[in-house]
Amino acid sequence: MSEARPTSVTVYSAADGTPDALAGETVAVLGYGNLGRTAALNLRDSGLKVLIGNREDDYAVRARAEGFEVRSLAQAASADIVYVLLPDEVIPDAFSKDVAPALRPGAALAFASGYSLAYGLIRPPDTVDVLLVAPRMGGAHARARYLAGEGFWACVSVEADRSGRAKHRMLGLAQALGILRAGAVEMRAVDEAALDLFVEQTVGPLLGSAIMAAFEVGREAGLPPEVLVMEMYMSGEMETVFRGFREIGFLRAAEEHGPTAMFGGLLRTLELDREAIATRFRAVLDDIRSGAFARRFQDEAQSGYPVLDMARAMIHGPSPITEAEVHLRGIEAAARGEKPPAEGV
Ligand code: NDP
Repeated sequence: MSEARPTSVTVYSAADGTPDALAGETVAVLGYGNLGRTAALNLRDSGLKVLIGNREDDYAVRARAEGFEVRSLAQAASADIVYVLLPDEVIPDAFSKDVAPALRPGAALAFASGYSLAYGLIRPPDTVDVLLVAPRMGGAHARARYLAGEGFWACVSVEADRSGRAKHRMLGLAQALGILRAGAVEMRAVDEAALDLFVEQTVGPLLGSAIMAAFEVGREAGLPPEVLVMEMYMSGEMETVFRGFREIGFLRAAEEHGPTAMFGGLLRTLELDREAIATRFRAVLDDIRSGAFARRFQDEAQSGYPVLDMARAMIHGPSPITEAEVHLRGIEAAARGEKPPAEGV
């Protein structure tokens, strides 16, 4: 374990990995989706023997085209290390039907999210190691970072050590994925699941609501919609704000934007009722920790995703904000002397 400075968390880094941790073991990556594809490619490029478990459809075709042996979930689940990269809400059914019956005693079962472990949605047999290796980065970006020789953060834990070398295997997996070049924070599945859901259900909705409300109010006041979306995110300036948080610090980056932005931003922040926001966020966290959110999401999946279908219809339907983006992309393309991109691209 690296000890760069006193910290209450344990962080594993490159020095904690051992190149031969998974020597002679085959890793089955179950699911060749967003993160599954990246995991499989990174693990293979790190020299591990990797096979894919997937249903026979487009993902399986892509995995074969990219040089992997593809088997059914049940066949792949008899590998030495089984890394489950299926959508969270799909894991309970797939686990009980296909994965659990095929697991070999002494194997290791790894998850990229604490969700199904945290809310008691699966019960791994007591003959296998149970690991959490949960990247904090989506598939394409995690792949790009790996290829650039950079790492990406993850939360990791040993949830059950039945082989006596579960930690070794967890670090081996993290190293081969490219995680240890950045850092792996030790965190139990129950806390990782809460952390993940908490941030995406608090910061995410508030940011989204702020953008939608500012768009509506600006439009009502006669500001051109294209210019509103340009100001809020299409110019890319907002990305530099978040980069500033990371590189300079959340508070200290404020000085990067000049005194007018700092003065206005500070006053308006003080005017907000932060206690009301915090009260709401506490209720969200309680709901997540109680397992109530996971129960609702599992019901959503069992009922055929009615809410997600509605959300997708809204996302892909006509809307003033999407029209403004399309128009602005057209203006950008024209300025470069190119044809406007197809709508929605
Ligand atoms: P995806 O939605 O991209 O996974 C799709 C894969 O799951 C495909 O291989 C698909 O194959 C398979 N799949 C979907 N439904 C079923 C089903 N009913 N039965 C069998 N296979 C199915 O998932 P992600 O990559 O986004 O997430 C995977 C895991 O990684 C999750 O635990 C997630 O929380 C975690 N994670 C994801 C991150 C991300 O940014 N995406 C970041 C960090 C962690 P097919 O449909 O062909 O069967």
